Amino acid sequence: MSKQFDVIVIGAGPGGYIAAIRAAQLGMQVACIDEWKNDNGGPAPGGTCTNVGCIPSKALLQSSEHFEHATKHFAEHGISTGKVTMDVATMIGRKDTVVKQNNDGILYLFKKNKVSFFHGRGAFSKAVEGGYEIKVEGAASETLVGKQVIVATGSNARALPGVAFDEVNVLSNDGALRVGAVPKKLGVIGSGVIGLEMGSVWRRLGADVTILEGLPTFLGAVDEQIAKEAKKAFDKQGLKIELGVKIGDIKSAKKGVSIAYTNAKGEAQTLQVDKLIVSIGRVPNTIGLNTEAVGLQLDERGAIVVDADCKTNLPGVWAVGDVVRGPMLAHKAEEEGVAVAERIAGQHGHVNFNTIPWVIYTSPEIAWVGRTEQQLKADGVKYKAGTFPFLANGRARALGDTTGMVKFLADAATDEILGVHIVGPMASELISEAVVAMEFKASAEDIARICHAHPSLSEATKEAALAVDKRTLNF
Ligand SMILES: Cc1cc2nc3c(=O)[nH]c(=O)nc-3n(C[C@H](O)[C@H](O)[C@H](O)COP(=O)(O)OP(=O)(O)OC[C@H]3O[C@@H](n4cnc5c(N)ncnc54)[C@H](O)[C@@H]3O)c2cc1C
Repeated sequence: MSKQFDVIVIGAGPGGYIAAIRAAQLGMQVACIDEWKNDNGGPAPGGTCTNVGCIPSKALLQSSEHFEHATKHFAEHGISTGKVTMDVATMIGRKDTVVKQNNDGILYLFKKNKVSFFHGRGAFSKAVEGGYEIKVEGAASETLVGKQVIVATGSNARALPGVAFDEVNVLSNDGALRVGAVPKKLGVIGSGVIGLEMGSVWRRLGADVTILEGLPTFLGAVDEQIAKEAKKAFDKQGLKIELGVKIGDIKSAKKGVSIAYTNAKGEAQTLQVDKLIVSIGRVPNTIGLNTEAVGLQLDERGAIVVDADCKTNLPGVWAVGDVVRGPMLAHKAEEEGVAVAERIAGQHGHVNFNTIPWVIYTSPEIAWVGRTEQQLKADGVKYKAGTFPFLANGRARALGDTTGMVKFLADAATDEILGVHIVGPMASELISEAVVAMEFKASAEDIARICHAHPSLSEATKEAALAVDKRTLNF
């Protein structure tokens, strides 16, 4: 006998588990299927984000930042320590505990919201009257029927052609989060978010890190002025970033990995490292979903084709998150999950792609929302820019972290905020104010006239808004 549901969600990453909870809140009978296993074979809902992405990377970034503070900055505060050492196994163990807390939290939320969780792989079996039959293969095999199906099967790391991830020497994000000892020399291919974050973790712990990037510009999607400021900081920290390289042969042996490449000047080079992280993007994942059984349409990249509302080519089948078009971000997946659940319930779910924040959790952090200065120029938009450096912010001085700035871009005629770009301490938290402002179509003057707590980093945001009108008070 098959089990009947109003909604079946395949995948319990941020897109899927949030969609399942929202659908249950709206009174639907909901099943959520996820195949991720923890080290004991038990369920580990939360997807890439919880298990090998957002959460564990931030846990390691935090540990490595503490280490760097202890070894390089405590003395400025008059704190002396003995020799500071790093026990990598403890750091990784702590990270695993943080991951487990999140896995358990999601299982608890499923119970609380009466979402039926199935641990196993879900695959389309056939269309049936009024819905779809989904087979679950896992701890126990089940046949489910759902009136509506939400596919949230996420993405996988992209490998370099001919260079498979062995997770010992050649690491994806998964292996990069499990390295058992600080490598002496670490290579990273790709200077995107994941490459920079992982490179930062191991550099702080003492690895000699070289990042090789194929593109000629550093962080091309980031506002140029902000990217330049970040690059300066990374150079100072000793993170070596080579741009415009062409990767050649990669040989992995017991002793390490050798990477042949041509540098931007066209010179042949070889980089010898103990470990290599390949972070050149991610590919949508529909492995084992049996899309052919029902004729679910994929594009040439393997992503599920959806419209602006996340509807697929099949009636009653939706898809959200990394497996569809758009930025591969956990909060984008969540927003789509909520919107789809609400649309199924007959409500008007809404995702505003123009106000999705982006964050790179390096030190300094980089965060932005809206358009960059180069995009505004390309779009022919007349704008005003205002910047304020953390160097002139009292809280940043007290923190001992004055790198970077806040930058506002506002429409030249209406003063509406078009983009906010931050490089500096706590940029990931500061960006929220800008997101709210843009969502409410605020002007730079609106932010400039709002009282901000003193001393706080957020005063740099207010001052950057004032700078749009050339009237900063503290710089
Ligand atoms: C190292 C790293 C750091 C990152 N840091 C950030 C960050 O700081 N902020 C941010 O916003 N984003 C970050 N991301 C991206 C973020 O993790 C993804 O955008 C997000 O996880 C996508 O969510 P999703 O629900 O679409 O898919 P996923 O999180 O990938 O979840 C998909 C789930 O579906 C399951 N599944 C797949 N197929 C099936 C099937 N047939 N049956 C059952 N289950 C199935 C998988 O097991 C998985 O649990 C990071 C990614 C990486 C790799």
